[in-house]
Amino acid sequence: MHVLHHANEEPLYGQWMIEELKRHGYQIGPGTMYPLLHGLERKGYLRSKRDRSGSRYRKVYRITSSGRKA
Ligand SMILES: [Zn+2]
Repeated sequence: MHVLHHANEEPLYGQWMIEELKRHGYQIGPGTMYPLLHGLERKGYLRSKRDRSGSRYRKVYRITSSGRKA
């Protein structure tokens, strides 16, 4: 899956992934992307970490070893 492919290359966060999919021609909003990321995390394919950028926090997702196999 595309999300796992990118997570394998570098840690990603939801808004970045939305922009990336737009680049590929997919219109996916936050209401779709965030549940998708949560789902992948629940399956153990991704692990999230809160990351601070300026005064805001965002969740950064990294791939796990089972995510790499999937
Ligand atoms: Zn891509």
